[in-house]
Amino acid sequence: MVTELNTHGPGPVPHAEVRVDLAAIRDNVAELAVRAAPAQVMTVVKGDAYGHGLVPVARAARAGGASWLGTATLAEALALRAAGVDGRVMAWLNAPGERWADALAADVDVSASAPWALAEIAAAARETGRTARVHLKADTGMGRAGAPPADWPTLVDDALKAQAEGLVEVAGLWSHLARADEPGEPANARQLAAFRDAVDLAEARGVRPEVRHLANSAATLTMRSAHFDLVRPGLATYGLSPVPQQVAPADVGLRPAMSVRARLALVKRVPPGQGVSYGHLYVTDRESSLGLVPLGYADGVPRHASGGSAGPGAPVLIRGVTRRIAGRVCMDQFVVDLRDDDVNAGDEVVLFGDAAAGEPTAQDWADATGTISYEIVTRFAPRLPRVYVNGEL
Ligand SMILES: *Cc1c(COP(=O)(O)O)cnc(C)c1O
Repeated sequence: MVTELNTHGPGPVPHAEVRVDLAAIRDNVAELAVRAAPAQVMTVVKGDAYGHGLVPVARAARAGGASWLGTATLAEALALRAAGVDGRVMAWLNAPGERWADALAADVDVSASAPWALAEIAAAARETGRTARVHLKADTGMGRAGAPPADWPTLVDDALKAQAEGLVEVAGLWSHLARADEPGEPANARQLAAFRDAVDLAEARGVRPEVRHLANSAATLTMRSAHFDLVRPGLATYGLSPVPQQVAPADVGLRPAMSVRARLALVKRVPPGQGVSYGHLYVTDRESSLGLVPLGYADGVPRHASGGSAGPGAPVLIRGVTRRIAGRVCMDQFVVDLRDDDVNAGDEVVLFGDAAAGEPTAQDWADATGTISYEIVTRFAPRLPRVYVNGEL
């Protein structure tokens, strides 16, 4: 028996969608704010808000009590301003020749890890007549952005000089943890001590920062000593755990905001021994029903989610039953072995969503594909519509 995709009344039925629950975002931010208090919360919305959609998430985060929003690129921060999002916004990843004047005009806080950045920011302030709010970044052991200890005094002194000229205001002192997702790992205590040293040095020379900040999601949840004046959770905002082996999101009052859903495009009966999809990685062991899901790697489904001789595929939920991907994930579609399930074309398939609803999770998909939940939620492509629910906040 073969059934074609159902139609459900007028208008196009979306094959598939990324559904984002904005009330979950708002509530997660509120929960993080309670845990962080008296520190403030900067909700990190880089990477299109971890794939959830920059502007709707920013608004939901503000409704949950995020007094700050954090982006990687200046373009992301400017997109927030263009959409009318006000309040404090910080963009931290910049390169020589950055559009500093645009950052100043849009009242975006910026970061400096090196004297060249400070010099460019000061020059833009001189040209535009606006004072730049700068956060000086120390490398306390992450080995990524930030000034290493040997360069920190120079960065601080350059900033104080520019501040004395009225060109910049040192709004923040900050750093980032490399191993906060391993609570108790000695590197965290070393970074914390190095951050305190960097702050002490800057304050001894006369810096009076509005905020000192160090903590990502993992440190917000597990390392109170790293909270300082402001925490910067990203992943936890979206209801996912940065320490999945130790803490499930529900344990700390968080619920996932994103689910990825599709409708079965085809269901058909096949005989035993039927090879499935490219390379016949999967072969049916009995007469069975195959379900075709109209989502593939061009949509963001990882090809590593394929299932067959090399291992089980990623899980999906169809009519209350968890099934696994059978055979290779293709560009636009994949197949699920439904056995004898009572399922029809048009039925809903949930790739991942909320464990509380019995759905597989982004973490399950990360485990099945050898990655982290961050990479699962950020990878879904613009071809998939984002559908927002509970958006009347
Ligand atoms: C991405 C990022 C964060 C948020 O990290 P999570 O682990 O998602 O909480 C915080 N600070 C900086 C500098 C980042 O790049």
